[in-house]
Amino acid sequence: MQNVYLDYAATTPTDPEVLEAMKPYFTEFFGNPSSVYSLAGKSRAAIEKARVQVATALNALPEEIFFTSSGTEADNWALKGTLEKLRSKGSHVITTKIEHHAILHTGNYLEKVEGGSVTYLPVDGEGRVRLEDLKAAVTDKTILVSVMFANNEIGTIQPIKAIGEFCREKGILFHTDAVQAAAQLDIDVGALSIDMMSMSAHKMYGPKGTGVFYVRKGLKLENFVHGGGQEKGRRASTENIAGIVGMGFAIERMKVRLPQEKPRISGLRDRLIEGVLKAIPHAKLNGTRDDERLPNNTNFSLIGVEGETLLLDLDSKGISASTGSACSSGSLDPSHVLMAIGLTHEQAHGSLRMTLGRGTTEEQIDYVLEVLPEIVARRRSMSPLWEDYLKKIGEK
Ligand SMILES: *Cc1c(COP(=O)(O)O)cnc(C)c1O
Repeated sequence: MQNVYLDYAATTPTDPEVLEAMKPYFTEFFGNPSSVYSLAGKSRAAIEKARVQVATALNALPEEIFFTSSGTEADNWALKGTLEKLRSKGSHVITTKIEHHAILHTGNYLEKVEGGSVTYLPVDGEGRVRLEDLKAAVTDKTILVSVMFANNEIGTIQPIKAIGEFCREKGILFHTDAVQAAAQLDIDVGALSIDMMSMSAHKMYGPKGTGVFYVRKGLKLENFVHGGGQEKGRRASTENIAGIVGMGFAIERMKVRLPQEKPRISGLRDRLIEGVLKAIPHAKLNGTRDDERLPNNTNFSLIGVEGETLLLDLDSKGISASTGSACSSGSLDPSHVLMAIGLTHEQAHGSLRMTLGRGTTEEQIDYVLEVLPEIVARRRSMSPLWEDYLKKIGEK
């Protein structure tokens, strides 16, 4: 049996080189960066080096980079920090129905607790926001638009440049959750008219527990974490020096590898997509097939199969994958993303996400293509849902 990890959108292993770069900051250079002696200076220098590494990767300025505890924290900061700062101007925020929960649930919080109003834009059948919908949703009270760069479930890349330019022209701030995209695409924050952007180290072969919040120079938000004067007084708490060093190295390494990794991984992705669509009857690919799909993302609806069961079957064959539906305390919630692109409950529940990465090989993809069709066929043969489906489409 092979061990095949196909859940790189959930998290990535830390690159051994990144880990090596981090290690001295646990034991040798452990000084608190806020202290005055020279040991502390080592910590300060390490943070500033990482800030330059991140800024360089994004074509940004070092002073525009703030280190956070996660992508989630950066998302919270963007929404809450903007509303709290600009409340006198307006309290309307526009986002989309397919955001990560870090944005969606923060949006709900703005509505319930902070007196904000939030519009959740629909998407088309491939998961893309339409600029006309955004334009129609804007009011004179709109202060912020937050649209994710690329979706974590179906991999659809949004028209970020067009959205950024529209917001800039309207004088509305634009935030993008680039946690998935930043790990796989070249992002130039200036060229895309991005005001704020969230990233996370553990989605790009760095450590868990470190994020980045990009804030365009001159833009002042309310602070989100209050306390000491770290990060130029804008984000309190003693810095996670090793994590920050890891983030800096991870993004630098990622940029070096990208020109080779991107075509390699998208080639394997296409092999997997074509293989599944060919070998599994009535398999449906969710998301788009053009260039506006993340190089590493596949997401299928396999009607007549229950996603959670499928994951356990795959796990028993050494394959780690994911499904859109989240099973919590006995109630099955279908994925909000799959519902937003118009899938039925049955299609959404039979979803399978496999996301590729650095460790993925052709051999692994072929192994999946050998194992998966058998599993699906066996589950379908026991499924009343599949029977019903065949009758409905007149194949039985
Ligand atoms: C993983 C993820 C997050 C959350 O990042 P954390 O660092 O794990 O908190 C936010 N948005 C998207 C799109 C993600 O994929």
